[in-house]
Amino acid sequence: MPYPIVRFAPSPTGRIHIGNARTALLNFLFTKKNHGEFILRFDDTDVERSKEEYAQAIEVDLAWLGIVPDAVLRQSERFALYHAAAGKLREAGRLYPCFETAEELDRKRKRQQARGLPPVYDRAALALSSAERAKLEAGGRRPHWRFKLDHEIMRWTDLVRGESHIDCASLSDPVLLREDGTYLYTLPSVVDDVAQKVTHIIRGEDHVTNTAVQLQLFEILAGPGRLPSFGHHNLLASASGEALSKRSGALSIGGLRESGIESLAVAAAAVLTGSSVALHPVGSLEELVACLDLGELSRTVARFDPAELTALSARTLHGLSFEAVRERLEVHDIIGYKAQPFWLATRGNLTAFLDVVDWWRVVEGEISPVVEDAEFLAAARENLPGEPWDENTWTVWIGTLKKVTGRKGKALFHPLRLALTGRENGPELAALLPLIGKVKAAARLSGRAA
Ligand code: GLU
Repeated sequence: MPYPIVRFAPSPTGRIHIGNARTALLNFLFTKKNHGEFILRFDDTDVERSKEEYAQAIEVDLAWLGIVPDAVLRQSERFALYHAAAGKLREAGRLYPCFETAEELDRKRKRQQARGLPPVYDRAALALSSAERAKLEAGGRRPHWRFKLDHEIMRWTDLVRGESHIDCASLSDPVLLREDGTYLYTLPSVVDDVAQKVTHIIRGEDHVTNTAVQLQLFEILAGPGRLPSFGHHNLLASASGEALSKRSGALSIGGLRESGIESLAVAAAAVLTGSSVALHPVGSLEELVACLDLGELSRTVARFDPAELTALSARTLHGLSFEAVRERLEVHDIIGYKAQPFWLATRGNLTAFLDVVDWWRVVEGEISPVVEDAEFLAAARENLPGEPWDENTWTVWIGTLKKVTGRKGKALFHPLRLALTGRENGPELAALLPLIGKVKAAARLSGRAA
């Protein structure tokens, strides 16, 4: 494979959602697998709707998912390239001015539909004489510009869908430039893909028709030998089957982050839903790379259930290594020699990462013990083993207490847990006890806050 260069090209018109994350991650994992480059390109030619704050939020969201681009481009800074490309198309006789208003086009479409014809643009503008065009312009009409498609069948071997073809005779000539001189997505995208030498275009299957059109543009702008490969992945829909939208904010990456879902759970769900690999927790993006096979993605829309994500997030936490969370623990002052054993002791009990703050307080801070049976707790305190304490201390202590008090099962364990942690449930006491230490343990067993 040639050195792969991929791009993720969101328009910064809202926060990205898990469906956009799927596209970003499929590109990123693909390029990781093949040691290539990942470009983040903001498709912001729609100056009205694009916002810098969204572009920044997208970068933050991607970084949270573990995606750091090798380069970032903004189409709004590259208009000179698009003008040059439009000029080239005009010279080649492939870009022509049209004067129909939106209402006129709508009436045409309705008439075609009434006659059972497909609503394809009839190229009436190509039949205008220069005198007719001049008259329209003198009357104040500004043209929009369409790409004159070759009426041939475009074929490509899709990385996901295999052999694919679209007959361009069945398509309307696409509008590349609006009346006001602004560009629609189609042309700038190809211009940049050519300029950046993008080798693989991996995007949602809502772009399949664009691919036929863009292949023709590539042939003109890059030359026939320099076509990228295309892969169109299936889209994610909500649990009820609705399409996800940036505008609604549903299942936005920022929203999932704020609700405490693990980024690796989001990444696993974004990539594995609707693939041949069952949804499972992963410890790193590298693990997902190993699961990636574009050719194995399902061809149908994949429904995404947020309820599964909460459970997956907890399972992800339970398997995360200390190294994977060290910096996040530091943010909460969970540092020092206890941090690692603490993480290993508590991770299996976490639903959300922030639960660690509470457990750290149990180990290092002050809690109010709950005294269920003061007499038993006094006996427990008197029989605390001598220091140093380690993971065997608990077993030694419990063995003594069984003999001394004759207790077992819940009657033995429950009062100890309540006194030592102030909580009904939690991580193994065998692991917590040496972290709590003898001084605190003794105070709590006496009913004192410590
Ligand atoms: N801006 C386009 C989108 O978000 C990019 C599509 C493409 O990858 O070519 O759908």
